Amino acid sequence: MKIAIVGAGMIGSAAARHLAKAGHEVTLIGPGEPARFETHDGAFASHYDEGRITRMNDRNPFYARAAAASIGRYREIEAEGGVPFFTPCGALMAGSAPYAAKIAEATAGLEVISETLKADDLRAKFPYLAFPEGYVGAYEAKDAGHISPRNLVAGQQEAARRHGARRVVAEAISIAPGRVKTSSDAFEADEVVVAAGGWTDDLLGRDALSVYARTVAFHEIGPAEAERLAGMPSLITESADDIYILPPIQYADGKLWLKLGGDPTDDLLEGSSAINDWYRSGGDAERGEYLTDRICGIIPDLAFESRFHKPCVTTWSHDRIPEIRRLDKGLIVAAAGNGAGAKCSDELGRMAAAIAIGEDP
Ligand SMILES: Cc1cc2nc3c(=O)[nH]c(=O)nc-3n(C[C@H](O)[C@H](O)[C@H](O)COP(=O)(O)OP(=O)(O)OC[C@H]3O[C@@H](n4cnc5c(N)ncnc54)[C@H](O)[C@@H]3O)c2cc1C
Repeated sequence: MKIAIVGAGMIGSAAARHLAKAGHEVTLIGPGEPARFETHDGAFASHYDEGRITRMNDRNPFYARAAAASIGRYREIEAEGGVPFFTPCGALMAGSAPYAAKIAEATAGLEVISETLKADDLRAKFPYLAFPEGYVGAYEAKDAGHISPRNLVAGQQEAARRHGARRVVAEAISIAPGRVKTSSDAFEADEVVVAAGGWTDDLLGRDALSVYARTVAFHEIGPAEAERLAGMPSLITESADDIYILPPIQYADGKLWLKLGGDPTDDLLEGSSAINDWYRSGGDAERGEYLTDRICGIIPDLAFESRFHKPCVTTWSHDRIPEIRRLDKGLIVAAAGNGAGAKCSDELGRMAAAIAIGEDP
């Protein structure tokens, strides 16, 4: 079959690999990463970074299962694309006893190697982390940690290319069943898969998803602090602002950065131009400072050398499950990671690919 995929991000690139590997004629259409956010006048993406938490433990069984399927294929994707992206440093979800019980319930039946850490174990294992009284931990030491979303996308695209997919670096300006237009070309296909993240609704001329502005903060640490935090897992804590912290990751500048996010409020962005304005704005400085306060509370005495913040967006569906379904003959939507779509993007792309070729996802 001839399939056009709009959106060369986490889900679209995964769908491209699955479809091309199955022998279909795939065209993957989407822009690359802008060199400078401030002056860029097109679409952005939610994966321009080096750290996304990956884990099977989850309070929602859909994400637990989708992550398990994806994580099971990480090494295959690395081999097919030739780009390493997975760091299995472990993942910890810390919270109240009911929070831990919800995780256990959602992952029942999955082969998750997860250890329950009581409050004392948590303190003993991670002495540099501070949690509210009574918190326990669901700790996956194996097959969890973080992925580089940039490298995962690059690897998926390279694997797709090796399986025969064509990559078109352009933005779609209009979409109809079986048809995609960019400013310079038109593409006909049996099926069009729209996987354009926060920009999906505008492309489809509808208002089905919610896109929220997110600010993330980065804290640079030196070798002594890196040694103190050695063995730190990716961390999610039960809190009203859903705080998560990535362990030290080396970025392209050669420095080690601790990244965190979490939002006390959801700020809605209506339409692609509001989303693009948000990226150009550089994010919310006050939210960045709030995140610095939060990380210093969770990692007391954190010795950081510099800090900055950055904008991003998360795209949500009403039922909090990714929207992967057929809209029409010749038109499929695959969007709404609900803040959790990176770790399981390969499975979300596989589901979209299955629908495109008429199989049960
Ligand atoms: C700060 C932050 C932290 C996160 N942390 C985690 C985490 O720890 N773990 C996790 O699992 N998930 C996490 N997520 C969520 C995860 O990154 C997203 O769910 C994931 O990126 C969604 O993939 P996607 O393919 O839907 O969107 P994207 O990766 O954004 O891809 C969409 C693509 O569509 C393209 N596009 C837009 N308009 C057009 C157009 N007109 N024509 C063609 N292409 C177009 C974009 O350029 C982009 O490449 C986080 C998200 C954010 C913002």
